[in-house]
Amino acid sequence: MRRIDCSEVREAVKAELVRINREIGPDVLSALEAGLAAEESPVGRAVLDQLIENDRLAAREGRAICQDTGMVVAFVTLGQEVHLTGGSFREAVDEAVRGAYRDARLRNSVVRDPLFDRSNTGDNTPAVVHLDLVPGDGLSIELMVKGFGSENMSALAMLNPADGEAGVRRLVVDTVRRAGPNPCPPVIVGVGLGGTFERAALLSKKALLRPLGEPSPDPRYAALERSLLADLNRLGIGPAGLGGLVTSLAVHVETCPTHIASIPAAVNVSCHASRHGRVIL
Ligand code: SF4
Repeated sequence: MRRIDCSEVREAVKAELVRINREIGPDVLSALEAGLAAEESPVGRAVLDQLIENDRLAAREGRAICQDTGMVVAFVTLGQEVHLTGGSFREAVDEAVRGAYRDARLRNSVVRDPLFDRSNTGDNTPAVVHLDLVPGDGLSIELMVKGFGSENMSALAMLNPADGEAGVRRLVVDTVRRAGPNPCPPVIVGVGLGGTFERAALLSKKALLRPLGEPSPDPRYAALERSLLADLNRLGIGPAGLGGLVTSLAVHVETCPTHIASIPAAVNVSCHASRHGRVIL
């Protein structure tokens, strides 16, 4: 049995949260540069230029990439042979969030209650934590800082099996079309297909964690990702919604088995400020 103290979790998650709020991943930066090379609209090119400059400045000067420093989502993969010591794991993650947002002066964006008490919790907690138990003695925590300009544009539908690929395409394209400029395009689109209602939503969010440019290992879904990306980039929404060819940087599809009566289909939209990282202990 391997022991991991929750203080290790707290320190590692805190450091990674500060880092990902300031440093955009090289995959996103490369995709923005490729978008700049492909964009034909002068306004679209100017926007992409500014986004790239913003990302470089944020990393150089240790500033947040965006004022919306989001809600923290953690996908935890915990080995069954790990014994977590030194307190509550969930509290360690929340302490990491508290410390990171306080010390790096990141905006607190979480309210206590969705309806009746929309007062700020004051420290960006609680994080949304998903736990997956696996064999072995490893602990991996994938972190995402999710802005809600894009989260609000996400959608889920329980499609009929007869809707097939065409139904999925319609859902993805209509979701991005309806979103227009709201999710700060160019967007990254996570699609979750299969499982149940909630599993599809989780898959769509996990899809956003895949490095940009890495296709689905299933050639059928890799082809679907390519053609959905082409469809989205024909919408003309463009960078910042000001028109152009580059509406989306990538589409990632994740799947799992489902019931004979349904195609649960979720679309989770991320803005260009796709901030994520990983802690491995
Ligand atoms: S959607 Fe993204 S880029 Fe736009 S304000 Fe929110 S976090 Fe920032």
